[in-house]
Amino acid sequence: MAALIRLFKPQFSSLLRRSLSSTTTTATVSEIQPQRQRSNSSILPPLTDDLKGSKNFQWVFLGCPGVGKGTYASRLSTLLGVPHIATGDLVREELSSSGPLSHQLEEIVNQGKLVSDEIIFNLLSKRLEAGESKGESGFILDGFPRTLRQTEILDEATEIDLVINLKLREDVLIEKCLGRRICSECGKSFNLASINAKAENGYPEITMAPLLPPSQCSSKLITRADDTELVVRERLRIYKKQSEPVEDYYRKQGKLMEFDLPGGIPESWPKLLEALNLDDYGDKWSAAA
Ligand code: AMP
Repeated sequence: MAALIRLFKPQFSSLLRRSLSSTTTTATVSEIQPQRQRSNSSILPPLTDDLKGSKNFQWVFLGCPGVGKGTYASRLSTLLGVPHIATGDLVREELSSSGPLSHQLEEIVNQGKLVSDEIIFNLLSKRLEAGESKGESGFILDGFPRTLRQTEILDEATEIDLVINLKLREDVLIEKCLGRRICSECGKSFNLASINAKAENGYPEITMAPLLPPSQCSSKLITRADDTELVVRERLRIYKKQSEPVEDYYRKQGKLMEFDLPGGIPESWPKLLEALNLDDYGDKWSAAA
């Protein structure tokens, strides 16, 4: 963690300047030797107890808006004892702080567009620094990197161990985003959508039960301003355009684990743990949940 902050801070401006002016970013990617692509069924090497206890995981979650990155990243963060850092949350915190950036951010976020790399790196550096002062190590990043430029800068700053790419069909993603609610008091996420998407166009049937709030949260639910159908479609369009080169980058490094979500949390969580060789942690999770 400290190394990441050290590397991010002094090098950030020059890395960013260099990457913004670079026209040869694809050359970096093509220099990397293609390696094995990991998927739901092709498993990672076993995680030893030493490694599991080391809290030095540096993982990244990729996936379309609404796929559930936050849910699974936050569960893994609890399980592994490493912080879950979601750049979307950092942006929303900045928005609600009514600080100098908030007005500028509001317009961008509410249109479903990406905020500048400079703002994202500043928010991320601040978050990493605050974590370091609390003794945090390792991280599970969610919503970052989002572009090839961000990927390359992160790669120069630190070594990512594993990238988990969560996948779900688009009609389900839209329904999930529209059903998403957040408790304005405790910040927990829920979902009111009851999804029953029939098998079609080669996609399997997907059933997802709603994730309903407990009674103390149900009167305090709010909808994210960018979870309207128009904005969700725009976010999906931008995500798809930007994410392909990011996925290719990590695929060529042999770090990408593709994970097709088989359904809601009850079906997907045990399968994800299994794919990560963390299934022996399932009992620990059930006890802690
Ligand atoms: P999310 O919660 O990940 O969907 O992020 C919400 C919004 O925050 C996005 O639509 C972007 O406007 C902004 N955002 C989050 N992460 C990034 C990033 N890595 N790069 C640029 N903008 C981001």
